[in-house]
Amino acid sequence: MSKGLRFTEKWLQRALWLVAFAFAAFLIGLGSAIVGNLWDVEPELTVEQFMDSAQVARLRGEQESAQGKRDTAQLAFEQAKQKHEVARSNTRSARETFDNWLATRHATSRPDQDPELITRTRALDALEAQERAALAAVQAQEQILLDANQALQVAEDRWEKMQDPARTAYVDAARAKELRVFLYRLALTLPLLVIAGWMFARKRKGAYWPFVWGFIIFAVFTFFFELVPYLPSYGGYVRYLVGIVVTFLVGRYAIQSLQHYLARQKEAEALPDVQRRRTLRYDAALARLGKGVCPGCERPVDLKDTSVDYCPHCGIGLFDRCGGCSSRKNAFARFCFSCGTPANTSLAD
Ligand SMILES: [Zn+2]
Ligand SMILES: [Zn+2]
Repeated sequence: MSKGLRFTEKWLQRALWLVAFAFAAFLIGLGSAIVGNLWDVEPELTVEQFMDSAQVARLRGEQESAQGKRDTAQLAFEQAKQKHEVARSNTRSARETFDNWLATRHATSRPDQDPELITRTRALDALEAQERAALAAVQAQEQILLDANQALQVAEDRWEKMQDPARTAYVDAARAKELRVFLYRLALTLPLLVIAGWMFARKRKGAYWPFVWGFIIFAVFTFFFELVPYLPSYGGYVRYLVGIVVTFLVGRYAIQSLQHYLARQKEAEALPDVQRRRTLRYDAALARLGKGVCPGCERPVDLKDTSVDYCPHCGIGLFDRCGGCSSRKNAFARFCFSCGTPANTSLAD
């Protein structure tokens, strides 16, 4: 990741960061799909797995036949109820007809109608007997339905009773599975984090840095965010412990970098002026001058003061005179701005 000052280079660097983030986003998508699917690596658990299979079959059969009987009884009961309803309305309408006829008969008082009275009364009695029979059928079906319901209840109770110990075993097995799947996920994501750490230490400045950074972002995100919804209660420790270790490693790395930097700086500041200038990168030197700091020691210098030719902190030459036209010029410039005479051509890019 060299930081140049060239316009195109600067913009390409920014575009490469986009590449890094896009790469990370796709890796994260893939990673989360894989981590999510790890649950299906092991077969689904059921409570019945933990019960005696012969007993399961027997009780299931019992339950099913009770269920079947109950359904049949329910249908028969509904049919009987309907028949009773029909019989009742038949009786009701016959009685109304009879009552009307009787009223007419009283009005006319015709004795020749007596046999018809008897016939009609008998017909009405027959209808009432039918209604009573229908009601009896309803009550009989109701009893059958009640028996079937109670038999089903008994079968279900027995099933529940047998399930109780199996359920405990099931909960234990489910917890064990949860832990195993979590360990699979950890086994997948922790090495990613370790590889990311190694890449950060060794590869982050290479030409392929966008992919390296994309991978680092992916690994960190996957470990600290993707793994979270799958952490069983005790898994929280893993995240915090790994977080502590990673923070410690990154912190130690930063502290060592700072010490190396200071040591290098001190070493460089002890070298003669021309040699020091040669160790600096051209773009970096210009960027530091642009920010008003000494390219050699990175301390602030007043560059507007034309009497300042050397850094007051480390003594590196900031301005010198051109060998061709003796104009006062930037000591790091590669060419004299006034006459174009080459200078400092040894400065690295
Ligand atoms: Zn300096
Ligand atoms: Zn010149």
